[in-house]
Amino acid sequence: MKIRLVTTTLIVCTLALAACRPSAEENPASDSSESPTMATHDVHSFAEPDQVRVEHLELDLTVDFESQTLHGMASLTLDHEGAEQLVLDTRDLDIQGVTLGDSEEATDFELGAEVAHLGQPLTIAIRPDTEVVHVRYATRSADAVQWLTPAQTAGGERPFLFTQSQAILARTWVPCQDTPAVRMTYSATIRVPMGLMALMSAENPTEVDPSGVYTFEMPQRIPSYLLALAVGDLEYRAFDERSGVYAEPSVVEAAAWEFADTPAMMTANEQLYGPYRWGKYDLLVLPPSFPFGGMENPRLTFATPTIIAGDRSLVALIAHELAHSWSGNLVTNATWNDFWLNEGFTVYLERRVMEEVYGEAYATLLAELGRQDLHATVDRIGADSADTHLYLDLDGRNPDDGMTDIAYEKGYFFLRSLEEAVGRERWDPFLREYFETHAFESTDTASFVQYLTENLLDTLPESVEVGDVEAWIYGSGLPENFPQIHSESLETVEAQLAAWQEGQAASELATDSWNSHEWLHFLRHLPPGLTSEQMADLDAAFGFTQSGNSEILAEWLTQAIGADYEPAYPAVEEFLTEIGRRKFLMPLYRALVETEEGKRRAEEIYAKARPGYHPVSSGSVDALLGWSAE
Ligand SMILES: [Zn+2]
Repeated sequence: MKIRLVTTTLIVCTLALAACRPSAEENPASDSSESPTMATHDVHSFAEPDQVRVEHLELDLTVDFESQTLHGMASLTLDHEGAEQLVLDTRDLDIQGVTLGDSEEATDFELGAEVAHLGQPLTIAIRPDTEVVHVRYATRSADAVQWLTPAQTAGGERPFLFTQSQAILARTWVPCQDTPAVRMTYSATIRVPMGLMALMSAENPTEVDPSGVYTFEMPQRIPSYLLALAVGDLEYRAFDERSGVYAEPSVVEAAAWEFADTPAMMTANEQLYGPYRWGKYDLLVLPPSFPFGGMENPRLTFATPTIIAGDRSLVALIAHELAHSWSGNLVTNATWNDFWLNEGFTVYLERRVMEEVYGEAYATLLAELGRQDLHATVDRIGADSADTHLYLDLDGRNPDDGMTDIAYEKGYFFLRSLEEAVGRERWDPFLREYFETHAFESTDTASFVQYLTENLLDTLPESVEVGDVEAWIYGSGLPENFPQIHSESLETVEAQLAAWQEGQAASELATDSWNSHEWLHFLRHLPPGLTSEQMADLDAAFGFTQSGNSEILAEWLTQAIGADYEPAYPAVEEFLTEIGRRKFLMPLYRALVETEEGKRRAEEIYAKARPGYHPVSSGSVDALLGWSAE
């Protein structure tokens, strides 16, 4: 996912965590479990996949907007050798009955005690010959699911629903082995109100079915965090025969134009990293309350509408989500402690594809902005903090905690340091082979280090110096061989900023050719302590407060709060009540709570805005403002 939070404190695209520190930590290359999938225990799941594994999930669910519940049955096909119990992850589920096999014979089951973040284990008695278990259930508050009223959609007339399962929220709408170490295929029958379209992370329809009943098939094995469902008033526009975009009717044309480079990105990815293995690749533009930038649900990336800027300047996010079709979805982190294996690789692929499609200067600019984000994150959490390790120890914590730019950007720069050391002629084939060898598997950090050592590092001539791999992965802060970046376009921006600080009027600066990222760089480097007059000068010249570009607007409003620039406050309130993307919310709320008056304002706005946020976002803001979740 892309969560990328520049300023956010925690979390992740989805993230999660896990615990057990492999004994390999002292000597990662020596741990080599034969089966990467089973190498580490996932502390964020009750499941016992070494006893029994779910191979296939069949869902039959009714979507009830009135009661805001999903209800029906999950049938799980098992692989085991004489196991006597199946333990599933659940949270806030109303379990109505459990039966075994085609005869649907009732069996004993028990919901265990509630554990913070993790929910309740559902322990089901099975027999040595049990192949299928049926669980009849209904959701309750389901943190994965956001129910939107018609007023919360672009069209304003029909309700909307979407799920966000990463990191450990699949268990709030499907009883499952909710760990990325387990992969399964799935099929589904989803019943929705007439006239609405249902979509999943699976083979999807392109037109509304008048019956309101949709069937889905996901023939590739996926981890539970990639289960996804969306229901709404949606239309489809194809880019070509294998990719396109779904959005509400009033948004779909703009979305189709904005993301028209998607096929070119797919081609670039395939040339670098091997075939796209998921059939179609489509995008779904969600209403503005979607808490993330994007979520890499297989075959159907979920994306925030805040990247529709009108100039295709924010499509790196599409490159990111698409890249997850290789890193994350095809080769998956086995626990959430290994999250950098998903996100660091994906940022790396994203920037390589951006370079292919838009040129090296643009990719360099993105990398430099990423470097700035990373330094800010290290400063905030402390260079000595264990949360700056690529390999995390998140035992006992919410998977969302501790998920920062470290996994994304330190992960990216680690891989970039390897690329620079060994050269693309060695690095690119290595990476392609890594995806090929581990396709549809879950793997952990120690296994990656072993693979890297055997297939790349041990093959290098002595003259090649790659730096201290273990310091990057198991050490804190940023290692000495941190790659150097030089972005000329950002230096141009800095020169204009310096001219303004020296007295040149804002309206006379040479900014005509700047893209969104250059503007962001300009805004982020405004000096502290600007007066309202200076802010007004910038606003008059560039119309920041009225910007339709969410990235620029969010950055400007954050600065405006810091400068107590009164004319921007109505826009702050409007933005915070309309947009639910956590990346934007957190810096704004954080800026507000810096002062007593701002804190009062934040409380007032949040009271109005909170009902429109996804639980992922409201959970973070609750923590910041000291609200207790109900
Ligand atoms: Zn991601």
